[in-house]
Amino acid sequence: MDLIDSFGRTIRDLRLSVTDRCNFRCTYCMPEEGMQWLPRSEVLTFEEFERLARIFVERFGVDGLRLTGGEPTVRAHLPVLVRKLAQLRVPADSASPLAGHKPDLSITTNGATFRLLAHEFRDAGLDRVNISLDTLQPEKFLRITRRDDLARVLDGITAAQEAGFSPVKINVVVERGVNDDEIVDLARFGREIGAEVRFIEFMPLDASGHWLNEKVVGQDEIVAKVAAAFPLEPIPSRGAAPADRWRYLDGGGTVGVIPSVTKPFCGDCDRVRLTAEGQFRTCLFANDEFDLRAMMRADADDDQLAAEIQRAVGLKWAGHQINQVTFVRPSRTMSQIGG
Ligand code: SAM
Ligand code: SF4
Repeated sequence: MDLIDSFGRTIRDLRLSVTDRCNFRCTYCMPEEGMQWLPRSEVLTFEEFERLARIFVERFGVDGLRLTGGEPTVRAHLPVLVRKLAQLRVPADSASPLAGHKPDLSITTNGATFRLLAHEFRDAGLDRVNISLDTLQPEKFLRITRRDDLARVLDGITAAQEAGFSPVKINVVVERGVNDDEIVDLARFGREIGAEVRFIEFMPLDASGHWLNEKVVGQDEIVAKVAAAFPLEPIPSRGAAPADRWRYLDGGGTVGVIPSVTKPFCGDCDRVRLTAEGQFRTCLFANDEFDLRAMMRADADDDQLAAEIQRAVGLKWAGHQINQVTFVRPSRTMSQIGG
């Protein structure tokens, strides 16, 4: 049975935040100090993640699972969870193109330790990797992430490609006055290494509350800058995928933009999220959470969990309201929700 919300959107994609912890402190995501980490006992175990993922995939036909965080790779033995998730099967009678197969398994990572894990992830059944990289300049990298790790992240990208992940995508959060001067350089870097760069509009989910509308560099401006250097043509229809995509006319690959602020794609959204402590959220910007961990730890059976998931999805709102005065900023940061 598909999971369909009250606006007719079918849920196909579940993001699992496997930890709230991180080895970086990106300015647009976390404060420099003072993050309160969840006690280990409050974070879902691999068995609990697997149980919930099984309900989403095998009952509801969710065909994409993305591991995120915090930084997912700081969770010890993560390939063990990947291996468990790779055993799940999308129902054969589902409308998904993956019916009868394992779900698409992906990860979003800062890449700093990916060299150490790439092969293990590949062997465990991980399909795709997105690595975040906002600048090619070491000092700026240190300023943004508060860690001097540019070389390790670049090496993590190489390691992902060497391990056979294809395509590797590179996530770039663009912030005006910070890295908007590097849009063309980052696009060129993606072309040179054969990775799709996806520019992400800066969203109001930073811990320090320094988000301002003026700091958002919108999709039109990003695309104009890239196209002036490397002519582009749009790739039609993104379906439920968050990125709008373009093809370089000279055959140099593709580039994407995730225009969450200037062109929200809520009408096509097929995503839901599970936080590290087992709170179910139907939108990045939702103010409501559904406590699946409490239910599991109070011995709820799968039917009860499935009913709660359906109830939450039934309440999924039409869309976020970043651009409206009624917008209420979520009290959690991106790292706590799972980006
Ligand atoms: N630690 C991993 C990483 O950085 O890739 C995964 C978690 S991170 C929260 C997921 C994605 O959200 C990253 O690509 C990150 O750049 C992006 N992100 C974080 N804060 C953001 C914000 N305020 N606006 C837009 N994107 C943001
Ligand atoms: Fe950590 Fe990712 Fe947030 Fe940066 S964006 S602080 S790497 S969770």
